[in-house]
Amino acid sequence: EYGVSPQAGDEERVVESALRPHSLPDFIGQPKVARQLALVLEGAKRRGRPPDHVLLSGPPGLGKTSLALIIGSELGTSVKITSGPAIERSGDLAAMLSNLGPGDVLFIDEIHRIARPAEELLYMAMEDFRVDVVVGKGPGATAIPLEISPFTLVGATTRAGLLTGPLRDRFGFVGQMEFYEPAELQQVLARSADLLGVELTDDGSAEIARRSRGTPRIANRLLRRVRDYAEVEADGRVTRAVARAALALYDVDELGLDRLDREVLDALVTKFSGGPVGVSTLAVAVGEEPHTVEEVCEPFLVRAGLLARTPRGRVATEAAWRHLGRPLPRGGIP
Ligand code: ADP
Repeated sequence: EYGVSPQAGDEERVVESALRPHSLPDFIGQPKVARQLALVLEGAKRRGRPPDHVLLSGPPGLGKTSLALIIGSELGTSVKITSGPAIERSGDLAAMLSNLGPGDVLFIDEIHRIARPAEELLYMAMEDFRVDVVVGKGPGATAIPLEISPFTLVGATTRAGLLTGPLRDRFGFVGQMEFYEPAELQQVLARSADLLGVELTDDGSAEIARRSRGTPRIANRLLRRVRDYAEVEADGRVTRAVARAALALYDVDELGLDRLDREVLDALVTKFSGGPVGVSTLAVAVGEEPHTVEEVCEPFLVRAGLLARTPRGRVATEAAWRHLGRPLPRGGIP
């Protein structure tokens, strides 16, 4: 599916690596996290010690992986990449940890999905740079402590609250990533257009930025689609008119909502008369996991002013009814 989902497909990962920022000054937006992180890294460099473990939280496509790679390049160390769901047995993690060189960065994406035994192994590794390797089975099994190199763990998660307390407490720094402002996305687009050799006008980039769901990954993806259109149907320049025509062709929402965002809003309005309704009920109605609706979809809908979280459940705002082109309910918004 082409889509405007904030998640990346495998092929896209390859294209993305060409557009990744490689240093903190290259990294656009997230002023708070970037400044805090710069201090954490500088302090560690001065002390000649690996920095504290870093947890980055926020919806997909906002630059968590990019920042993990930047941490490695700023420190001049290598970065090993894995993800919570990929670590099936704690032995896999132990092997990975013991292969780290001094000061290396281990990046674990979706760290909240790590299996419990592996998570417990991680506690000791993070705290004491040691793991217990269990040899043998049953009553004769013994745990052999194994030293590992001091390293920095960078974990990424959609929301810090999804981590267990003990895991969260072992991170010395938690960076909360925010959706990007349109002006910041325009900077991302200008940089990418440069790298791709695309001529992009200011109003062309404003049009793409506005519909990118506050997400650099989506901005870059839309730029590639609009570029195709510009090359085939126009003179190659991405102007506002070209961007509008291309985005209309690809069904990109005027506000940047993706398929799931729209389905959630649509269900809320049509099946539940605008709410209030609980998030699990809403998730069932669109055939999604509640946590996907809650962690991926809702943050953007709330920020776009289309959905409100109330103590009684989720409610569609007036703007949501308008955006879906539906008449407002008679009795008003619940
Ligand atoms: P996440 O790990 O949060 O899902 P990524 O780090 O993979 O996000 O970012 C997705 C893509 O978006 C990257 O390939 C990069 O091209 C682009 N990107 C993300 N953040 C920035 C940024 N701050 N500046 C420039 N490009 C960015």
